[in-house]
Amino acid sequence: MSLMKPVRTRFAPSPTGFLHVGGIRTALFAWLVAKQAGGKFVLRFEDTDQSREVEGARQHLIDSLHELGLDYDEGPDIGGPFAPYTQSERLDIYKQWAQKLVASGRAYADPYSQAEVQAFREEAQAAKKPFLYRNHRPENPPEWDGSQPLRFKSEPKAYQWHDKVMGDLSTGSEVIDDFILIKSDGFPTYNFAHIVDDHEMEITHVIRGQEFIASVPNYLNLYEALEIEPPIMATMPHILGADGNKKLSKRDGAKDVLDYTREGFLVDALVNFIASLGWNDGTEQEIFSRDELIAKFSLDRVGRSGAHFDERRLNWMNGHYIRELSLDDLYAKVEAYWPPESNEYDDSYKKQVLGLVQERLKFFAELPDLTKFFFVDLPVNPELISSHKQLKKLTQDEIKNLLEQANETLEASDFSVEDLTERLNKLLEASGQKPAVLFSLIRIATTQAPASPSLADTLAVLGKERSLQRLESHLASLQ
Ligand code: GLU
Repeated sequence: MSLMKPVRTRFAPSPTGFLHVGGIRTALFAWLVAKQAGGKFVLRFEDTDQSREVEGARQHLIDSLHELGLDYDEGPDIGGPFAPYTQSERLDIYKQWAQKLVASGRAYADPYSQAEVQAFREEAQAAKKPFLYRNHRPENPPEWDGSQPLRFKSEPKAYQWHDKVMGDLSTGSEVIDDFILIKSDGFPTYNFAHIVDDHEMEITHVIRGQEFIASVPNYLNLYEALEIEPPIMATMPHILGADGNKKLSKRDGAKDVLDYTREGFLVDALVNFIASLGWNDGTEQEIFSRDELIAKFSLDRVGRSGAHFDERRLNWMNGHYIRELSLDDLYAKVEAYWPPESNEYDDSYKKQVLGLVQERLKFFAELPDLTKFFFVDLPVNPELISSHKQLKKLTQDEIKNLLEQANETLEASDFSVEDLTERLNKLLEASGQKPAVLFSLIRIATTQAPASPSLADTLAVLGKERSLQRLESHLASLQ
């Protein structure tokens, strides 16, 4: 009885390129379904189109799954009870299944040349009819000797089926055709191989992208011919760009998923974000730990329409996970991301700097931009003032005057955060300026950066000598 079967899901990529967000989402959902049920998650390489193989893709797929913690129980590199898990190593198995179909009269050798099939296609086009190979079925096909493609002899009929995500679907018999099972190079097609493998590997849930949904009626026809019970099917919606229906661009996540970890996105944040592409638990909750995802995920709650990839949301979510880390943990994780200028500084200083930017850090690769001024004196950049909304309204003399007052105030301070806060507030009152004017000006003069953490905190970490020096250089540049 199918209800009693232990849950087994699979991720079945073709080694034809890097793993992007859409691919990893399919893997994640299949992994979650298996984990939730205490079942098994299987990795299978579908390499039957060897001309599309990209060197290094297999290792990249394995690395990406490991990096995101989506460990598989069986797979090409670790084996398992249904090994091998690479299709090119399973050709004999497909051949045996193909022979069964030949023997039962449900497969036949395709005697036509490519040019002849093309002529049929053009004929159908000219008659404005959809091309169906089965309309040209040869009456007396040759015996299949492996040199011709082997085709499925379909039995056209209408289908109704349930897709766990897309719901109840139906098609008419016109979509059923005699598709190729084994190509003339001896390799099976995806259409044939995945059905054999999913059956042999006892896969219970086939979770895959939308590009396969139109072929499902043909798969159902083949399942019947093979007398195999179809697995549960779940079709993932497309992932769209943030602003609508445009195709996902590199910026929107059609990039290598390992690029994100290289840029300093935390694995838990990435997994949380990817799970939320098309899925929610029906509440407003957005942050889910991995254990919560395992407990709460369900295919029934995956949306049918395209999921929007919003990089700002990813940044926000990663920032959330960064803020949750202890300073020591964060410090250990960002080690490789400091600007080179920081090399001469000790851990304690760098940790203070990190503590100040932790609040606004969205991913680690931002660290140099956010912290450079703590390590090196940047040249005076007059544009920071001339393009500032409020500061650009001040005259040169007003600016000079304010900076001179700031200089005096800072001279008198012991540079503790408390003392700096108190003195800066007094200066604010005395100057009659708004914080957005006075503090922005001091911030720019001491950091040459458009934004920084709280002014008193920043100055306290920079230290008295350096802060005053920078203020003076800025003043000198105004002469
Ligand atoms: N090998 C297919 C691909 O990489 C996967 C299809 C499936 O999951 O069944 O697109």
